Amino acid sequence: MIYIHIPFCRSFCTYCDFYSEKATAEGFTEFTDAVCEEIRRRALEFDTSLNTLYLGGGTPSQLPLQDLTRILLTLEECGHGGPFTEFTMEVNPEDIVERGLPYLHSLRSLGVNRVSMGVQSFDDGLLRWMNRRHDSERACRAFGLLREAGFGNIGLDLIFGLSNLEDAVWEETIKKAIELHPEHISCYQLTVEGDSVLAHRLENGEYTEASDEQCRRQYDTLCRALGEAGYLHYEISNFCLPGFEARHNQGYWERRPYVGLGPSAHSFGGNVRGWNSSELSGYTYTQESLSPEDEKMEKLMLSLRTSKGAQASFLEANCPASAIATLVKNGALQRQGAYYRIPEDHFFVSDEIIRELV
Ligand code: SF4
Repeated sequence: MIYIHIPFCRSFCTYCDFYSEKATAEGFTEFTDAVCEEIRRRALEFDTSLNTLYLGGGTPSQLPLQDLTRILLTLEECGHGGPFTEFTMEVNPEDIVERGLPYLHSLRSLGVNRVSMGVQSFDDGLLRWMNRRHDSERACRAFGLLREAGFGNIGLDLIFGLSNLEDAVWEETIKKAIELHPEHISCYQLTVEGDSVLAHRLENGEYTEASDEQCRRQYDTLCRALGEAGYLHYEISNFCLPGFEARHNQGYWERRPYVGLGPSAHSFGGNVRGWNSSELSGYTYTQESLSPEDEKMEKLMLSLRTSKGAQASFLEANCPASAIATLVKNGALQRQGAYYRIPEDHFFVSDEIIRELV
């Protein structure tokens, strides 16, 4: 599993505090040089048991094709040229519409076989408030272009839980997403991140966080609507048509080893977690070993976020029997074969359930 962080954006979204730089020609070259050097230096660490490549960001669709090609050629030179079982690229609707079909055909010929498009909402007022570059019409056009170019595995990202997102507007966004019939939908509840514009607005009293009830209502609406439309709710924030689970992300939840390349990217293997610092080039790598307690907690949290759940033997060996019994009695935990899982109607309070278990 290889992740590459492409740290460029043309504008910065209100809620985001990911590491990202303004896209410039010099920046692209500086970054590509750094990543190619890192690939050569770290190639031996790559574990290809799950042969996936994920380009995240930032906005990977901002990176010129020649730079993307250079990165892929360097991977190939180091024995990791694909084809990948799953090669996902995050894209922005505006880039897709601007660059059009020739760009998309090039992505396909470079091996990209899954696209994750950050739509966030189909409401233009809300998109402007988020400082997104696209509007609803452009998002639909971008989706059409992706289909026309032959992409058969498209994911859409949506956000709920903003205090200024009315229930009716959220329902309309879900309806439009379903109409497009993407293979995958990820829906994240808004969190106010450390250094985002939104965090400053919150501090200055210009934004109020949504209530728990509002978030819960919107999450329930989402689960119901996507379930009725035939989507499987296979992880708290992720839904897919049968057979279209995101394999790379599943690898994260199963705690498989992965290498993260590029500024601010994280890596994981054994009980070691590492991360690059956030500079375009010359970034440094730091790592730490997880204690047995940290590992246990991480395994519990990641597995219980999925509809498959956590292995019963693991849970029984590491959590108090009384806590498990109470949760099962209250319907917050279900035994299914060799696993315990949190049922969908309790996903929203999974953090509390996990706290009960540790
Ligand atoms: S959400 Fe995506 S496009 Fe927006 S600022 Fe963050 S990384 Fe850039």
